[in-house]
Amino acid sequence: MTRWMRILCVMLCLCVLCGIAAVGASAASESFSFSLKLASAANCRSYGGNNISTFNPQNADKDRGSYESGTVEVTNNGTSSTIHLKERKNFKNAYYLLLPFTMTVKVPAYTCYKVTLSYDIKLQRNANGESWYVMEWTDNTDGAAYKRTYSANNADASGGICRLHSSAKSACTGSGTVELTFDNLNGSAQKSMTREYAIFVGNSKSNSLLESYHHQLETTFTLSKKSCTTTKTVRLNANGGKVSPASKVVTCGSTYGTLPTPTRTGYDFDGWYTRESSGTKVTANTSVGTDPPTTLYAHWKGKTYTVTFDANGGTVGMKSRTATYGSEYPALPAPTREGYSFDGWYTQKTGGTKVDENTTVTTAANHTLYAHWHLTPALAPYNVKLEMDETGVYGKRIYHHVGYSSYDNHTKETTWYACDENGDNGIPITDENGDPTYPTTPTAGVHYYYVLVTATRKDNGLQASTKSNVVCVTVTKATPKITEPPTAAALDLAVGNTLAYSTLTGGTAKNNNARPSTNVAGRFVWKDDTVKPPRNGGRYAVVFQPDDTQNYETAETTAYVSVTCSHKFGAWSAGRRTCAVCGEEDVRTNTVTITWGELAYTYTDGAWNPATHDYDIGGGWAPNRKNGDVITVQNEGANEVRVRFQYTKADTAIGGNFANSDGDYIYSPIDLPVNRTKTVLLCLTGRPGKALNNAEIGSVTVRLEGGY
Ligand SMILES: [Zn+2]
Repeated sequence: MTRWMRILCVMLCLCVLCGIAAVGASAASESFSFSLKLASAANCRSYGGNNISTFNPQNADKDRGSYESGTVEVTNNGTSSTIHLKERKNFKNAYYLLLPFTMTVKVPAYTCYKVTLSYDIKLQRNANGESWYVMEWTDNTDGAAYKRTYSANNADASGGICRLHSSAKSACTGSGTVELTFDNLNGSAQKSMTREYAIFVGNSKSNSLLESYHHQLETTFTLSKKSCTTTKTVRLNANGGKVSPASKVVTCGSTYGTLPTPTRTGYDFDGWYTRESSGTKVTANTSVGTDPPTTLYAHWKGKTYTVTFDANGGTVGMKSRTATYGSEYPALPAPTREGYSFDGWYTQKTGGTKVDENTTVTTAANHTLYAHWHLTPALAPYNVKLEMDETGVYGKRIYHHVGYSSYDNHTKETTWYACDENGDNGIPITDENGDPTYPTTPTAGVHYYYVLVTATRKDNGLQASTKSNVVCVTVTKATPKITEPPTAAALDLAVGNTLAYSTLTGGTAKNNNARPSTNVAGRFVWKDDTVKPPRNGGRYAVVFQPDDTQNYETAETTAYVSVTCSHKFGAWSAGRRTCAVCGEEDVRTNTVTITWGELAYTYTDGAWNPATHDYDIGGGWAPNRKNGDVITVQNEGANEVRVRFQYTKADTAIGGNFANSDGDYIYSPIDLPVNRTKTVLLCLTGRPGKALNNAEIGSVTVRLEGGY
């Protein structure tokens, strides 16, 4: 196994030639900056072909080398670093190593650098052997071909800068210098300029690689720069203004000469300076020196203007101030306005840009600032605390207290809300007229309340409210007080025999929780209307049923019920009938007044009647007194009756018949309506068989029938 180890040491150094101006102002200089970057291992090329004469670095890439450290980047001046290269491959034949690297130099604007790159090389072999080494410097910037000066046919490896001949073990050394130009004279900005290079190392004896030899390669690079010319282009930075031309070419060791005068709105020109702020002033007579600053900066003084304050509806003590353009505004006055808070000063009466003491003046004229306002917000009450009776009975007043703190210059108003237990869904509490009120006698149930205390500013009417805690008020139903029990109607057994048939009327129930007490609407009913009172009545429980069952319980009292019977009689029977309900017997009485005549008669024989062979002419029975034969019946009762007249003989020879007042016989019974009087005559017939003197000859019976 053949192991190659190569170490490349790169020493970098910077010398500044024109850093400090000897006369006049010190010159500002951008630092010289560069970087040296070795290509990655993949881009390093090695060659293991048999015939060195066929080697073409542009194409040979058959067997790349590999390195412990493929990339080392060295930046900035004054820093050195060593690049270690270690070959690991075994090669049978000729070996060449090409190490590309790039060098980048950052060149300031309007600047040209000449950079001298000096290198020292040391090549050493650690063991005996036959090999020839060289180092060549190649420049393949922009893809240029490697320019290899070493010839494969040169048996002693002439050319190059370092050679190890034959079996010599001592190190070879060499050095060289390359001057490189980085020209950014026409550039207006710093520019990174890159050049590409390569280190070529090779030997000419192919068989020497069959053995393991170790070699060391050390290279030290030194870079230095100097200015390309003795003239410099100095940029003129108007620093916010305008200037033309924007640069001037000056000569080291001379004066600047006439410099242009820039202009800037709102400013007076104060001169050219070496720095953007502060620095040293440069005039036409100032010496350029050997390294002038790349840029001169215009310095300015702001113009002053009068700023007028418009309180815009308010009042302000200070009417105007002086402000400097480009500087911050001076302290601004504080205006006042009743009911308003000051928002600040603005560039426009409406809208515009806000201006304060930290604002830079950008108006290049006398100008006005306008006060802007907003209504001062109301201050909400605080410590709002609602206290209420948390339990109550319907009708009894619920007492409350609302406590809060508030600010002056506000009017306060309390609004009540009913809400849910979370204090949400609040509904304003109003009276029957829709006006706001507070709960005095809430209905039975659970209520939640809160109050909203609203403060209204007296000066601008803005409002702010604070909601109180939520209070739960539980109201139970009221039990009515029966101050006057109802009256029970008499129970008519003929209608019904239970309390259901006794109507309750009147009665008064009151809610004594209310002040003053109020009547409770409702009705009285028997507690058990199926009860059957005895015949002599009794006292029974009565229930008061309120119409408003949500807010009232029922109440009880008693009422006395008397029992009557309007009777349900059966049919009359012999002037009597019986009540089917109570069993009471009814007896009917009819009144008929009978007025009897004397009923005393005298019989007188008449003249002989040959036709009849009797003494009937002018004879017969006649009452002893006028109307002595009359019987009068007068119905003084309530019912029509029938009257039957009956004559009963005592002397079989003497008969009797009844006739009406016209003398026509009648046949009883006769009808005798109520309040009527009827008259009948008793007519006797027949001739007594013997002389009679005060003898009873018969009797009359008057019998009443019907009437029931
Ligand atoms: Zn009865």
